[in-house]
Amino acid sequence: MQAEIIFTGNKLLLGEILNTNAQYLGRELFELGIEVLLHTTVGDNRTMLQSVLHNSFSRVDLLIITGGLGPAADDLIKETVADFWGLDMVLDEQTLRRIEKILAERGVTLTENLRKQALIPRGALVLSNPAGIAPGLLIRKEDKTVILLPGSPGELRAVFEGSAKKHLEAVAGGGIIMHSKVFKVTGISESQVQKKLNGGNSWDNPSISYVAIPGEVHVRITARADSERKARELLNQHSVLVEDKLEDYIFGRDNEVLEEVVGRLLVERGMTVSLAESCTGGQVMKRLSDIAGSSRYLLGGVVAYSNEVKISLLGVPRETINRYGAVSEQTARSMAEGVRKLTGSSLGIGITGIAGPDGGTPEKPVGLVYIALADKDNVFCRGYRFPGQRRGVRSGAANASLNMLRRYVLGI
Ligand code: ATP
Repeated sequence: MQAEIIFTGNKLLLGEILNTNAQYLGRELFELGIEVLLHTTVGDNRTMLQSVLHNSFSRVDLLIITGGLGPAADDLIKETVADFWGLDMVLDEQTLRRIEKILAERGVTLTENLRKQALIPRGALVLSNPAGIAPGLLIRKEDKTVILLPGSPGELRAVFEGSAKKHLEAVAGGGIIMHSKVFKVTGISESQVQKKLNGGNSWDNPSISYVAIPGEVHVRITARADSERKARELLNQHSVLVEDKLEDYIFGRDNEVLEEVVGRLLVERGMTVSLAESCTGGQVMKRLSDIAGSSRYLLGGVVAYSNEVKISLLGVPRETINRYGAVSEQTARSMAEGVRKLTGSSLGIGITGIAGPDGGTPEKPVGLVYIALADKDNVFCRGYRFPGQRRGVRSGAANASLNMLRRYVLGI
């Protein structure tokens, strides 16, 4: 099923607040197998909202609208949707009683504005809001559905988790059972992944969708069938196919994250690791230490940004830096060995590169990163060219470092 999301509010338009609801809803709808075609942000402006409703419904049958459900004069979403479909506004007694109860507890008198929150378009289904006053709403007309959610992120989540999600599952599935699985891959581009899976052709059932984030591609397959058993069978058959085609590029499934997988492997092998990070500025340390229990395998590290720190703390020979440069295979190797010796860990990782935007040269362009892994006998090193801006280069390098650890520990 395809959908669009409309975010309302002047504060969003003016950049006063960050649209965190976009991220949350984007992920949640993806999880439900709903394909979101477009996000639109619109101010508290009835004419604009009407025009957006008109345009969106010419493309999709499902709209999610956030914000504008409160008591303020510019909260006019319900009324605009009601107008759009020619529905009148009616008082929902149950919502009114709930509002009265909450206000009585707070010692607040019910004003006309607050009462307005109990008005709903005729026929709308009330989606209760355990975290606030104004409820969400589900309104249907023929084959079109609109779901209204509060703008406040805490309330939006509460309404979504509490009831909207259940209704969306039903709307999206239409009596059809859906099961999906996510395969997370790294070390390969999105287009290569698509090529490996069916030569880039899309699948029908299960359907297949891709999300690329720096350094990772997430492949979701969603199987649909008229019974639980058939949906599971279809998913399992195609999961085997995906596993077979993507092999060891797959580092995790569903909610697994790379650092968690690496941590689990290190524990299984009884290994420890330490880090010498330059261009990643501690990102690998942060990600590994985000995982509870990481003290079992993560000994410590040095963020060695300057040459002097590389020399004095990690023991990189000055000669190596002078001769090959701070961003070089030799320096990365020396950093990995240095930090391993410093902490006594089984493995040491050394990362040095040019994150940009400045500092690149024709020989050593922005995005060039050397990552080395030292064990007690050997040092392995690989040079990478990460695309994108500073942020992408740094997270790409952090991912590649974690993936290097994963592959080393697995022996692949
Ligand atoms: P209220 O009862 O608070 O008026 P509402 O449903 O009318 O709720 P808004 O007034 O649009 O929603 O938003 C309430 C608050 O939630 C805003 O002041 C803003 O801080 C926050 N908010 C709204 N939309 C978003 C969003 N997309 N992302 C993050 N925060 C948001």
